[in-house]
Amino acid sequence: VFEVWHSDLAARIGRLQTPHGVVETPAFVPVVHPVRQTVSTQFLKKMGFDLVITNAYITLCHYGDEARRRGIHDIINFDGSVMTDSGGYQVLEYGSVKVEPETMAQFENDIKSDIPIPLDRPTGYGLEYEKAKEYVAITLKNALESLRVINDNTGAIWVAPVQGAEHFDLVEYSARELDTMGFEMMALGSPVELMEAYEFAMLARMIVSAKRVIPAKPIHLFGAGHPLTIPLAIALGCDTFDSASYMLYAKDNRYMTPNGTIRLDELSYLSCQCPVCSSHTVQELHKMETDMRTIEIAKHNLHILKAEVEAVKQAIMDGRLWEYVMQKARAHPKLMEAAQIFKDVEMLEEGTPLFKEKAIFFYDPIDQHRPEAKRFRRMVTTFQSSKMKKKKKLILCPEDEIHPFYSTTSYKDIVKKFPDAQVCSYSPFLGIIPAEISDIFPASHNLATKSDHKLEDYPTFVESLKSFADKFEKILIIAPDDFMRQAAKATRLNAHLVDDISAL
Ligand SMILES: [Zn+2]
Repeated sequence: VFEVWHSDLAARIGRLQTPHGVVETPAFVPVVHPVRQTVSTQFLKKMGFDLVITNAYITLCHYGDEARRRGIHDIINFDGSVMTDSGGYQVLEYGSVKVEPETMAQFENDIKSDIPIPLDRPTGYGLEYEKAKEYVAITLKNALESLRVINDNTGAIWVAPVQGAEHFDLVEYSARELDTMGFEMMALGSPVELMEAYEFAMLARMIVSAKRVIPAKPIHLFGAGHPLTIPLAIALGCDTFDSASYMLYAKDNRYMTPNGTIRLDELSYLSCQCPVCSSHTVQELHKMETDMRTIEIAKHNLHILKAEVEAVKQAIMDGRLWEYVMQKARAHPKLMEAAQIFKDVEMLEEGTPLFKEKAIFFYDPIDQHRPEAKRFRRMVTTFQSSKMKKKKKLILCPEDEIHPFYSTTSYKDIVKKFPDAQVCSYSPFLGIIPAEISDIFPASHNLATKSDHKLEDYPTFVESLKSFADKFEKILIIAPDDFMRQAAKATRLNAHLVDDISAL
């Protein structure tokens, strides 16, 4: 059902096979109203959206048997893949829906939904723990009952709704239970309130809680239609995400930009070059009749969302998703806050290739936590315990512009003078780099800022230096910069510092 082609961090470029074709992921899934859709589904298809989501509950209430006869694709006039939500949102809005889970599942079957979702009970946000636990239990029970009517021969991908919201242990619990039931795909119920309040850090933790339990299966994220949440959600492993934001924002005269939204009356220039923006001025948009303007802004918003997904996909191909996410994090302090989670999520390592064609970039202290850097430090530990002969002298010298370190003249000069010593260079981001493995990625494949790094920002460096230097009787540090001087002092290294090798 789901094949992965490329990955970086926990993000993946994959293909989802549905009865109505192949959907390349990650994919933004526009919400389509089964009765009152204003931006035509034909337009969505032409824009390149191969998957849309619509509401089965509204379809049932409005069309009933007609929908069973015609099928959902005909009802919404879309020949791509269709995902159907079953009314969970209506539960959230109006308290309850008068339909049984089995009836709903049967209906989704009958209307030939490609990616149906059983009736769930969203926890929303701010629900007390016991109540949330009860809703999770209801959702699990509904999922189990829906399974009874699910017909495996249709090729439809049934998606299990994972609830729990900010109660992360409940998120983990429900993901595990649904995984055991055998669902092929999961959907994370993400509270709209979290997105509205820019609580990206909480959103990130919620995704990680589920992803840990179900690392391989495709994951859908509900309601993620803000340009800022897209890179974060994809990097943490979400494959599809739906939203009606393009339309809701448009109705509110909110114009999306790659970094957020802006109200039309605050807009002076159209920096976007989509068909809407390149054929109108701000004044023309203002003068338009309301309905017409809403559609035009909605179309523009769709372009922004699509472009964001494509940019993230290109970053995955380039092996520069970490750089992209960190760059994007600068767009909003709340996003920067959320990006801190990348420091200690182990699962990011699995999807990160062992070797990348392009050099990786190190800018800020957070970059010492990149999966590539963590992996390299681990490799150094192995080198220490297995490859290092009984050398007594350690010589440390700063990184050269030229990579790998063992090909530099300074390295060759040192070895001539001290053939028995273990020679290493070092980097605040990677730690100690033994010359013998200085050609291994990313030691030889990185570009780092050389500006004055502060030692206290690099705990991984202190750790790396301490454990490496520990094994030696004599330590010689050549041309130490301030960073190394501080490090030698902080680790109480019994080292001899010299400015130049020729002085020896
Ligand atoms: Zn535009």
